[in-house]
Amino acid sequence: MATPKLSPFADVRWIWQNGELVDFEKATIHVLSHALHYGSGVFEGIRCYSTRQGSAIFRLPEHMKRLLLSAKVYRMELPFSAGEIVDAIAHTIRANGFDACYVRPIVYRGLGTLGVNPLRSPVEVVVAVWPWGKYLGEEAAQGVEVCVSSWRRPSPSTLPSMAKATGNYLNSQLVKMEALTNGFVEGIALDAGGYVSEGSGENLFLVYQGALLTPPLAASLLPGITRDTVITLARDLGLEVREQAIPRGLLYTCDELFFTGTAAEITPIRSVDHIVVGEGRPGAITRRLLDEFLGITSGEIRDRHGWLTPVASQPAERDLVSAASGERLPA
Ligand code: PMP
Repeated sequence: MATPKLSPFADVRWIWQNGELVDFEKATIHVLSHALHYGSGVFEGIRCYSTRQGSAIFRLPEHMKRLLLSAKVYRMELPFSAGEIVDAIAHTIRANGFDACYVRPIVYRGLGTLGVNPLRSPVEVVVAVWPWGKYLGEEAAQGVEVCVSSWRRPSPSTLPSMAKATGNYLNSQLVKMEALTNGFVEGIALDAGGYVSEGSGENLFLVYQGALLTPPLAASLLPGITRDTVITLARDLGLEVREQAIPRGLLYTCDELFFTGTAAEITPIRSVDHIVVGEGRPGAITRRLLDEFLGITSGEIRDRHGWLTPVASQPAERDLVSAASGERLPA
């Protein structure tokens, strides 16, 4: 299976699958895997940054914790410890030779039996890495144009938004496709009660009367790690931060609005449903938070919260021989 030249995976050589590095082409699963039929997978999206002090993974322990909690909700017993998955991530980044990349660990139900009951299908683990630039387009720094989606987030008694499960992303896909079809970059979904929830793959913040507001976990959203990062940075800067129910009208009347996410980082929002937010360009508080975020993730501002895990600090001994070819991989 040749990887097309324009594919984001064109430079990916190795994928870690169930304990060993395998060639990109050989990292496959069976068509009767439970996850393919019933959405039984949980995953993470993590970024590795090229910092002045070398490659470093952003908030790795927090991502690992969320992965384990997501697996717990779906009664998945992981065949590897968190430490082994952390090692696997560092090894996969090093083997592929990327300085900066996106990291995707996924835990899924493989080939066992079919039928809704997932408990008789084995739990498998894959770690993939690939280069990934700006998620919402290279012009996203100037602010993106978004809409409010006609799709709502599932209510908390329908799907737990705490778990980052593959099946949840069918709802996200509906939000995203509707937005793109109508000429927007992204959609904002409301929760089942009509309050603002989040984007298809991002949390949301707004600046209103000098305070930073974000919807609470009760609004059917993923507890984002970038969300937590921004709350921490804002409090460091002395800003008032409140998690509170956000009525839709505030999207149009606030002073600043932005998305947060591992892929989206901090992306300013210029308009909602063609109504311009604030002055139609990234506001002062958004820019201040972005400077802080970019400073820390580039190593130019001291990592005062210990958010960066250097790739080089992870043990380099295990898994560095390809299982398939026996070839020694670069450490
Ligand atoms: N909400 C959803 C639905 C997401 O998919 C993501 C991306 N993981 C986020 C929010 C942001 O979470 P994080 O900051 O942890 O990437």
